[in-house]
Amino acid sequence: MRNKRVKVLIVGSGGNGISPAAYLTMNGETDFHIITKHNDFGGAWLQNGYPGCEVDSPSAVYQLSYFPYSGWSTQYAKQPEVRDYLRRAAAHFGLYERTSFGCELLYARWSEYELCWVVDSTKGEWRADFLVLATGFLEEPVFPKIEGVGDFTGQIFHTSHWPEGYTGSGDRVAVLGTGSSGIQVIAELQKVAAHVTVFQRTAAWVIPKPNPHIDDAERASYHRAVLESSQLQGDIFETLEDGWSSVHLGQDIDRFERIARDYLHEQVPPGPLRDALTPNHRYGCKRPLRSSEYLWAVQQPNVTLVPMGASRITSNSVFATDGAEYKVDTIVMATGFVFGGTILNRIHRRDGQTVAQYHRGHPRAYKSVSLSGCPNLILAGGPAPNGQIFNGLYSGEAAGKYLVTMMQTMASNGIRAMEVTQSAEDEWKKNADNILRRGSTVSGGCANYSQDSEGNNKAAWPGSLKSMARELSIVDLAKYYKVA
Ligand code: NAP
Repeated sequence: MRNKRVKVLIVGSGGNGISPAAYLTMNGETDFHIITKHNDFGGAWLQNGYPGCEVDSPSAVYQLSYFPYSGWSTQYAKQPEVRDYLRRAAAHFGLYERTSFGCELLYARWSEYELCWVVDSTKGEWRADFLVLATGFLEEPVFPKIEGVGDFTGQIFHTSHWPEGYTGSGDRVAVLGTGSSGIQVIAELQKVAAHVTVFQRTAAWVIPKPNPHIDDAERASYHRAVLESSQLQGDIFETLEDGWSSVHLGQDIDRFERIARDYLHEQVPPGPLRDALTPNHRYGCKRPLRSSEYLWAVQQPNVTLVPMGASRITSNSVFATDGAEYKVDTIVMATGFVFGGTILNRIHRRDGQTVAQYHRGHPRAYKSVSLSGCPNLILAGGPAPNGQIFNGLYSGEAAGKYLVTMMQTMASNGIRAMEVTQSAEDEWKKNADNILRRGSTVSGGCANYSQDSEGNNKAAWPGSLKSMARELSIVDLAKYYKVA
């Protein structure tokens, strides 16, 4: 049992937990500690080890600007490569010695008397002047409660809890879900399984993702490009911004939809399968999928695409909602995640409510990093409402810089605690909702995990990466209550 006092307590050991710690270290602050329920660094890239798991934005997006890496073997790195890179980054900044693994945050409250966070964890109590929540936004799996699921006698698991060594070879496998995880695992299972039955509730737009190997000659120039361009200036980021502006801000949706439709028509001949694979919502409403293998895989003789969900499971079968039975040995739930998890149920505001209770299904945070009622607390990347622009590591970096700037500003102004005002938080959220309403994620005609209880987008930063960098480089003291 530990009872410790530190200046900064960081919760989470993915890329967004590494960044605040690295920025503190680079700025000479060593009085911090990381707690994580996992047994190593890597976050989503530690947890998700299913066959075919790889990034769907270029590898350069999955590296930290202050820890460039030239060795990626493919343009879109496989999960073990990203996981190992993040482990090297943590080791480089000496973070293993400052981390308690297998230590889960249970509860946190602000002490008015001590001016610090009191954090209860599975390994004892911590006190911290600053609390950083970097617990990921796709961390808590959705495991649907389908009738009879407990009766199944074969293996059944979620993509994020893949049994080590399981390949599906020779098995009849059902995959429920056709999001980013589903399509990657289906393409791999198709190569080895006796049969793959894909339960697709909603078709999503797919665009190709050729993934060339990077040879030694190219690696040298790739390395130079990475070193010469800051993450914000890189061509890769500019290109990605184009795509994500379409999704989140409603720009150029027609163009991207045309690319995806042309690709579908090029890959799949007219007929019932093409019809089933044609989305009935706008491009970007569901997260666009990137694969050059999936549309080919679902046309192979050992794959059946069932264009509906599953309604019942028995000892050895999955029934589709039309009553048809599919006999299987294994069921893979590629059914996604609870966005942001439940961490905000465990964080208590000064008024005693949890942050989640206060949000009432409409999460909000000033600049995606500061929560009203929670002094000296920073959301880093993961659970941040309006925080995530795409699945790179950038928002964690920007939040890490904001933390350091905030601590420096406080020190130079003799401030011990600062808490964003409700009006600043509300104004930020209102503006974000107005901007993001134009995007496909809100108005594209589907349900998706980034929508909140009021139909607003709770997952995206309301602008470009440049605007995120700009906003998070400034700490506007006028927006905060201060305790000297
Ligand atoms: P997801 O995008 O939320 O997809 C979940 C899928 O499960 C959807 O197709 C959903 O259908 C389906 N589903 C849910 N409940 C079901 C049920 N009861 N029966 C049948 N189908 C059901 O989850 P994900 O694929 O794990 O991806 C989550 C996120 O992880 C992605 O959006 C992406 O941000 C990230 N990711 C990234 C990468 C990468 O390369 N960087 C790779 C994998 C994942 P409906 O659409 O009808 O709800």
